[in-house]
Amino acid sequence: MIRKSFGILGAAVLWAAAFACPAAAQQEPGNGPMKPFAIADGVWWVGASDVASYLIQTNKGLILVDGGYESTAPRILDNIRRLGFDPTQVKLILNSHAHLDHAGGIAALKAATGAKVLASAEDGKLMARGGKGDFYLGDKYGYPPVKPDGTVRDGQKVKLGNVTLTARLTPGHTRGCTTWTFPVTVAGQARQALIMCSNTILPGYKLAGAESYPGIAADFEKSYRIWRAAPCDVFLASHAGFFRAADKAAKGPEAFVDPEGCKAFFDKGYGIFRAELARQQAAAGR
Ligand SMILES: [Zn+2]
Repeated sequence: MIRKSFGILGAAVLWAAAFACPAAAQQEPGNGPMKPFAIADGVWWVGASDVASYLIQTNKGLILVDGGYESTAPRILDNIRRLGFDPTQVKLILNSHAHLDHAGGIAALKAATGAKVLASAEDGKLMARGGKGDFYLGDKYGYPPVKPDGTVRDGQKVKLGNVTLTARLTPGHTRGCTTWTFPVTVAGQARQALIMCSNTILPGYKLAGAESYPGIAADFEKSYRIWRAAPCDVFLASHAGFFRAADKAAKGPEAFVDPEGCKAFFDKGYGIFRAELARQQAAAGR
């Protein structure tokens, strides 16, 4: 079961709390065991209890989006086998963002599958450094480095067989945070799926005055423009808590069709971002 107590903020707060305390970080929030579940035709959750990994079937092999923590990788491989696939059928590994709970397992997954890894330029660099040199986390919370085989730009199409995903660069949470959109079929209907990287403003992110990185506030602003305009019938994200996956999985794939929930999530998130920006601007002006 996914722990329902996580929720959107719960996951972020737990995660942030873990980062504030190295001892707690070893507990790896959101990394409980989880059986795979179906989201759409040929799309499954193969991740942990809260930390996402998505498996997408094409007629030329499998695509994996996100690799969890280093310790999640063997369980992702188990979940792929549970669905009746061989991990060597995975040809492409994509990433939402290069933090340890989403990119930590990619080196092991690449080694086990032989798949190509694609990432944005900025998060690809972070991945190649094993998470070190992050603008906020610094050199803490590293993971096995992996050098991407290729780079994706904003709007770039990534195709494997009969499935094409579009990379949208939505920076802020990381400098190269990447949201993925792709068409899916749910109950015979064509839909648009969106995997959001993360919109979380971690405690300590500076959006005004001496910004955490130059342009972070403008990046969040730009990312919200993209998120709020993007087609989003099936709202997915790097953490289960962002889109109430536990509730939806219990009801079956049709429950993942939730355009109103997607819109409400980004409307609310934008309000939180603007309020935090105003608060920090006021504090910086004092
Ligand atoms: Zn993150």
